[in-house]
Formats: sequence, C-alpha cells, structure tokens
Amino acid sequence: MLYVITGPSGCGKSTLVKSILGEVENVEFSISYTTRKKRDSEQEGKDYFFVSKAEFGQMIEMDKLAEWAVVHGHYYGTSKREIEKKGSERDLLLDIDIQGAQQIKTKFKKAVFIFIIPSLFQELKTRLKNRGEEAVDVIGRRLEIAKKEIRYYPEFDYIIINDKLDKARKELASIILATRCRLDSRKKEIVPILRSFFENE
Ligand code: 5GP
Repeated sequence: MLYVITGPSGCGKSTLVKSILGEVENVEFSISYTTRKKRDSEQEGKDYFFVSKAEFGQMIEMDKLAEWAVVHGHYYGTSKREIEKKGSERDLLLDIDIQGAQQIKTKFKKAVFIFIIPSLFQELKTRLKNRGEEAVDVIGRRLEIAKKEIRYYPEFDYIIINDKLDKARKELASIILATRCRLDSRKKEIVPILRSFFENE
C-alpha cells in the first residue's frame, strides 16, 4: 500500500515519518530526488538523492518520475522505480507536498492520503525558526505557502495533528495497521484460512 503523507513544511512530518519506521514492521520510506542542497543533518541516499537540475530534467524527460513538483524553488520527485520496487508487497511512505499528492491521487486511486498539521500556525513558525537551517526570507516564504497548503485538507483521508510526536506516531501507526486489516488488503491472506474451514468435509 502507498501512504502519501503531506503537510506544511515545519509541521514535523519528516521526523514523524522516520519515527514510524522503527515502530511498525514492513514499512519503508520512499527516498525522493531533489535539487535542493543537502542539509548538515542529512545523508545522501537516506534522506534524499541529491541531484543537479540537469539530472532532474533528464529524469522528467525520460518519464522516470511518478510525480514531481517545484517546492520552495527546488525540484522534488518520486521515481517510478521507488514505487514499483517496494510498493506492491510492502507499505511505502511518501513524504511529499500537496502538488505531488494530487498527482499520485490520479495514478494510484487506492493510496491512503494523510495530512499532517501543527496544532497552531504559531507552532509552525517556532519550529521553522528553531530548526535554524533556513534564512529568514526562506522561512517567510514557507509560512506563506503553508497558509495556502492548509486549505487542501479536505482532499485527504486522514488528518494527524502533530502537537505531540508520541501521539502523532501512534495515530499514524493505527492508520497503517487498520488499513492492513481492511477486506481488500486481507483478501490474499484469507484464502488459505477459508480453505482450511472446508477441507476434509
Ligand atoms: P524539505 O526541503 O523541507 O525536505 O521538503 C520540502 C517539501 O518538499 C516538503 O513538503 C516535502 O514533503 C516535499 N517533498 C519531499 N520530497 C518530495 C517529492 O518527492 N515530491 C514532492 N512533490 N514533494 C516532495
């Protein structure tokens, strides 16, 4: 199953998504491509694949991306390979922006769409400032974009209010576990069980 996780920059989305990997089994994080510069806290091939604009342009031309968007002036995209490699058997989490989420919605109708929001706008401001990785004008731009993004909440299946990481992590885990119990997801698993009921009759 594909889980598309979206939310304004600074809402703690990446921390939440990464923290779920240790909590729920068989969940993987989709590593995006970006033309943004690597932050000190990030690792190539773990947080992102950092590429040049020319390399990103080639991926678009060669139709290698399942979705892509320009976010805060940089290109970001999910490769089709990433989805095909992991998407069928395991649960794959996509931490992407609203434009990417809308593209995935047109291609993968069954994906689960989750919107992460902070408890208050002020909270977002504080987090972006405390992160200390962005210049003041960049923070201002991100906050303006957040005001636009928040309006898209009705397009999502689930809303997580990320006021406490522990609580948010439990809610995200619950969404994944409940989705695994849906009839659609259980169909394969249930066949041998049903068969066992009627064997040797
Ligand atoms: P950041 O630069 O703070 O890591 O991410 C900025 C924004 O880009 C976040 O909202 C993040 O979800 C989004 N983003 C990260 N990877 C992708 C991607 O592959 N596609 C799209 N559309 N957005 C992405």
